[in-house]
Amino acid sequence: MDEREALIKAGEIARRVKEEVVGLIKPGARLYDIAEFVERRIVELGGKPAFPCNLSINSNAAHYTPYKGDETVLNEGDYLKLDLGVHVDGYIADTALTFRVGMEEDELMEASREALENAIATVRAGVKIREIGKAIEETIRGKGFNPIVNLSGHKIERFKLHAGVSIPNVYRKADTYELKEGDVIAIEPFATTGAGQVIEVPPALIFMYIRDRPVRSAQARRLLMHIKREYKTLPFAYRWLQDFMPEGQLKLALSQLDRVGAIYSYPILREVRGGMVTQFEHTVIVEKDGAYITT
Ligand code: MN
Ligand code: MN
Repeated sequence: MDEREALIKAGEIARRVKEEVVGLIKPGARLYDIAEFVERRIVELGGKPAFPCNLSINSNAAHYTPYKGDETVLNEGDYLKLDLGVHVDGYIADTALTFRVGMEEDELMEASREALENAIATVRAGVKIREIGKAIEETIRGKGFNPIVNLSGHKIERFKLHAGVSIPNVYRKADTYELKEGDVIAIEPFATTGAGQVIEVPPALIFMYIRDRPVRSAQARRLLMHIKREYKTLPFAYRWLQDFMPEGQLKLALSQLDRVGAIYSYPILREVRGGMVTQFEHTVIVEKDGAYITT
């Protein structure tokens, strides 16, 4: 399987899981069950999770993933952002959508959905990424909402979810990176009723390996070896490790690895004024005359 085939297969799995999960999204459903379903189906369909299933509600924009024992349930009217990643041999599909639990799509959802469509319509080789930001910003502001300025899409490479280039959600003159044929990018507009900015709030439930660092604790060393082998340079969930070692030791080991710079931790990203947040995301391959949407 070549690179393009693997990207397309990962995208097909992601699309199928998005279709299948719809039936689970209803009032009273546990986030834990939804995340486990998504990740199990990814594996059953021949992929692997490229990152933990993110299930972020209302003013949480991103980076919430349930833990074992998490009793959080969906309530009618919640804005649920479901962000899922699939990889096939390291080739990644990253895609997200928003549900309004028990209700129809509203204008806040339309804003980010249409922003994504308009952004994708600008994509072709030679286009500067500020054109993507412009399309997103104009669409969302045109509907009376704010784009979240400090969240962005990203270039993707093999086993690298965020490969250096950010794909902006607003127009900035300085964003002059020119898309090249074959670039893989995730575009992910966020629309909010709030100020248009996120802040980090604890806890961190998602982590990622960065580099080997000396660490005194034998448990932390054992955890680091396990993380490298299982997840390589892709993000992983606290939930995935809760059976690996007792929770007290796990928390300690993760915080030690974070402190020495061996892993990165991703706290929850929350809209600064508590505004409601919606998000849609696709992964696309840049072509000479357009974009091939894999997801
Ligand atoms: Mn995503
Ligand atoms: Mn993404």
